[in-house]
Amino acid sequence: MESNNHILENFNQIIRELPPHVQLVAVTKTYPAESVHILYGAGHRTFGENRVQELLEKHAQLPKDIKWHLIGNLQSNKVKQIAAFIDTIESIDSEKILTEVNRQAGRVGRKINVLLQVKIAREDTKFGLTPDEARELFENYVDSQYENVIIDGLMGMATFTEDEEQIKSEFKILKALFDEFSAKKKLNTLSMGMSGDYGLAIECGATSVRIGSGIFGPRQYVR
Ligand SMILES: *Cc1c(COP(=O)(O)O)cnc(C)c1O
Repeated sequence: MESNNHILENFNQIIRELPPHVQLVAVTKTYPAESVHILYGAGHRTFGENRVQELLEKHAQLPKDIKWHLIGNLQSNKVKQIAAFIDTIESIDSEKILTEVNRQAGRVGRKINVLLQVKIAREDTKFGLTPDEARELFENYVDSQYENVIIDGLMGMATFTEDEEQIKSEFKILKALFDEFSAKKKLNTLSMGMSGDYGLAIECGATSVRIGSGIFGPRQYVR
């Protein structure tokens, strides 16, 4: 991890670079709660975690006005642990999980923001819906089958490669799907781009970027 000053410098630099319509989700997975405090002190409120257990630990320790985004794979049996406080679940990758989020949101009397995660990368290790699966879920949502969730957009991860043309072609697939869905019902969030590729993602239409190591430095270990 970087020193506190260095983290703030990285953060300020990124904030200065981002166009005003692009939001930053600061990804704090594997970094201590203290690193969240550094950005919180600078006024930042939107943070992302990829694992429920780590999210629960940080949520317990940190100020309650933080808007937490879950950005990693979510199992149905864990939804009820986060339903009362989660701001946005970016990683909806099945009908089963959307149904469970809808059910648990109803139980706690909330509407939970979600994004549909679409698989755009060529690698087959990444989670996500196919475009057709995403279409079907979105159409069911437009027909109001899910009353306690707000599908606010799409999320995707490009292939981990140096090939910028490939990365852009994958982001463009997601952007085209976003425009297609937006024509049926207005969407606000196109979440694509991480530390290594957020510039390309913004070129391709991202409205939200998820940045971890570009702010906090290299991780000690990869999860
Ligand atoms: C870890 C992670 C990020 C941030 O990755 P960095 O390369 O550290 O910026 C973004 N999105 C998802 C889904 C992640 O798991």
